[in-house]
Amino acid sequence: MRTVLVSALAMISLTQAPPSDAQDDRAQARARMVVEIAAMARETGGETGRPRFGDAVMAAMGKVQRHRFVPFAQEAFAYDNRPLPIGDGQTISQPYIVALMTDLLDPKPSDTVLEVGTGSGYQAAVLAELVAKVYTIEIVEPLGKRAAKVLGELGYRNVEVRVGDGYGGWREAAPFDSIIVTAAPAAVPQSLIDQLKPGGRMVIPVGGLFEVQQLLLVEKQRDGSATTRRTLPVRFVPLTRGSGK
Ligand code: SAH
Repeated sequence: MRTVLVSALAMISLTQAPPSDAQDDRAQARARMVVEIAAMARETGGETGRPRFGDAVMAAMGKVQRHRFVPFAQEAFAYDNRPLPIGDGQTISQPYIVALMTDLLDPKPSDTVLEVGTGSGYQAAVLAELVAKVYTIEIVEPLGKRAAKVLGELGYRNVEVRVGDGYGGWREAAPFDSIIVTAAPAAVPQSLIDQLKPGGRMVIPVGGLFEVQQLLLVEKQRDGSATTRRTLPVRFVPLTRGSGK
């Protein structure tokens, strides 16, 4: 009886120890990543106007399992503060840029947010930790489907993923408290400004194919006009146009 009990315990520890160690390692790696993000925020604060990101934004960065959103071959680098390839020629942004863009939106728990460019789904997950509802649209079908699957597996019930061209926004779900665009058009699409609530905010990289892109913060005024502020030079994939089919 005793032998059986001992071996049963041994089996439990054998099956349980490796995953929890890996989880600890990842939690530590995420904590280091958050420290790096905070340092970079301080360095760039003069340009961005945000030398310190909100506590809730930093908590979300420390919580979301970025390794689940990157291809298996990239998992070891998931908590490095740099962009990574996610397949189909697309990239997941550097964590610092994800945190900056999220912070610039001033997310509130009651907000409804639109993301154009779902990619891996990571940015959508960060937002889902902070706001009531996230609508996210991706033009490359396999990416949109994979993101929806991972978000579902991780239990994010407040994210809706659609495959299609996000240039025209998501009319049925508009207006939004904020919009985040994670691919770069040559100019801010008026269709997206139209889908912001008065007082709403949009963060969007803008620049032609051969230009340096600028990360812009667009604020829609009560009278419907928009003001624009530059933050940082950035490099995003272009916002493409098409049917999304
Ligand atoms: N936010 C993503 C990274 C996005 S990379 C993440 O967290 O992983 C930019 C994405 O925008 C790419 O997946 C690209 O396919 C998508 N994209 C480009 N043009 C688009 C358009 N017109 N509508 C929707 N998605 C678009």
